[in-house]
Amino acid sequence: MKEQEYDSCSHVLVFSKIEHDRWEGRTYKSSGCMKCGLDNSVLDCHRRYLPFDKAIMYDYLKKKGPSFTYLTGIETNIACDLDLAQEIYRKIKIAHPNIDDKTAIQYFKNALDHIRSVDVSDERKESRVKRLSLNPSFKSWNGRDVHVD
Ligand SMILES: [Zn+2]
Repeated sequence: MKEQEYDSCSHVLVFSKIEHDRWEGRTYKSSGCMKCGLDNSVLDCHRRYLPFDKAIMYDYLKKKGPSFTYLTGIETNIACDLDLAQEIYRKIKIAHPNIDDKTAIQYFKNALDHIRSVDVSDERKESRVKRLSLNPSFKSWNGRDVHVD
């Protein structure tokens, strides 16, 4: 079950969503795990609008209680689309099955640097989205969306 995967995972976190509230003058950051995909930004949504897998996530986080609103794990302090982060992590794990988290994070950062440094055409972005089997709505390939704090 997915819940057991969440429980047993030692999370490696990226900022899956950053929102600035102009009225409050505060910035809200959501965290997501590049390993198991647990993402506390689901809590910002109404449960009934969530797809099935996200609803499971929502229930899991709710069951864990308010303290679990903040996921604990290794913070990378990188803002990154979580689909992309998971896909990069998955590819790193395939190439290096026994890699430790610390090294994996370094590889992950290198991969992001590479993505940002290569100025790709829209056509190539499209094919990359297909190749990585990301959500079709995914368009976040530019440096504005993927940055290191
Ligand atoms: Zn995890």
